[in-house]
Amino acid sequence: MSALVTDSDGQPRVNLLGLSLRQMEQFFLDIGEKKFRAQQVLKWIHHAGVTDIAGMSNLGKGLREKLLQIAEVRPPEVVSQSDSADGTRKWAIRVDGGGLVETVLIPDGGRGTLCVSSQVGCSLDCSFCSTGKQGFQRDLSAAEIIGQVWLAIKSYDAFQSGKGRIVTNVVMMGMGEPLLNFDNVVAAMDLMLEDLAYGISKRRVTLSTSGVVPALDRLAGCSEVSLAISLHAPNDALRDQLVPINRKYPIASLLRSARAYIEAQRDSKRVVTVEYTLIAGVNDQPEHARELAVLLRDFPCKINLIPFNSFPQSGYQRPSGNAVSRFWQVLVDAGFVVTVRTTRGDDIDAACGQLVGQVVDRTRRSERHRAAADTQVIQVG
Ligand code: SAH
Ligand code: SF4
Repeated sequence: MSALVTDSDGQPRVNLLGLSLRQMEQFFLDIGEKKFRAQQVLKWIHHAGVTDIAGMSNLGKGLREKLLQIAEVRPPEVVSQSDSADGTRKWAIRVDGGGLVETVLIPDGGRGTLCVSSQVGCSLDCSFCSTGKQGFQRDLSAAEIIGQVWLAIKSYDAFQSGKGRIVTNVVMMGMGEPLLNFDNVVAAMDLMLEDLAYGISKRRVTLSTSGVVPALDRLAGCSEVSLAISLHAPNDALRDQLVPINRKYPIASLLRSARAYIEAQRDSKRVVTVEYTLIAGVNDQPEHARELAVLLRDFPCKINLIPFNSFPQSGYQRPSGNAVSRFWQVLVDAGFVVTVRTTRGDDIDAACGQLVGQVVDRTRRSERHRAAADTQVIQVG
């Protein structure tokens, strides 16, 4: 459920922005109203971009007054918006409690991919990730997650404007581990797919996980979005160092769970996107590629290579273009579909996949962002 907040009179208010259709219907039933009201309110919020309950004209005056007492539509607070020469747009969002998260929209031809955050910071501490280095602050509410989609569309004035769909794809690859914020992420993804809200195809919403296996098993029963797994190593010894959660849920269990997830989908053509961040001298050698090819031989996947983006004190380097090509070639020769992530939005320090959010001081923040500038995800989903 969306977070309950309190107004100036101390009354708790439900933020309607974060309620899925089912939750919104339950909300109206709970307050003694007909459940079809949920459909009307969803359309006001997500189709029309309206936040003022008083302006929801088909609700009837009495109901609007009742709602104004107990509910609100509160989008995230944008503290800055930056535009890149290549069209990439980045927002910094301040969340309740003071932390910052970032959202990035990457336009590409007719498509617009929005990189969405699920937590303030992250507790999983992958050795190459600046979000992980920041530690964990808190989960985002469903309203704060879907609010990132809302504000991207709003910022282009694209609600019902006939400008076409600004956000055609969503990747849960901003700050945080989405499967550790399960209920809020699932509610927000339901809204992304819901026709009364954003109506994005389930194939165009991608959840990326570092491998929280029990939560991934659970997701199979309640979501149909596309899946990306952050593998980054072809064996457990190496993955244990890069992705510490591997010590709890090793590669074999992750691949088993990911396979079960896509097999549970009705659409039999689906594959898992395997993300592999290439780090110079660590996991980028041809023998790693060969080992990866053997590991994934019978696994239904495409592979997305991400050249590492360095940041101060990371201790790692980005591999050369040649090393990336060599790695790519081994996998292509083995018959895999392989993409390499390309650079977008570097002039505004936009970075999807290693977003920093709140850090100690501005200098360090801008250094890290500069280093993180080219981790844009445009080939997933
Ligand atoms: N927590 C989730 C989703 C957010 S991270 C996950 O780990 O999958 C999104 C992607 O960015 C992951 O594949 C992650 O491994 C990658 N990433 C993180 N830091 C990076 C860096 N410094 N350089 C390149 N990719 C990075
Ligand atoms: Fe968390 Fe993902 Fe970063 Fe790992 S890569 S620390 S799971 S955000």
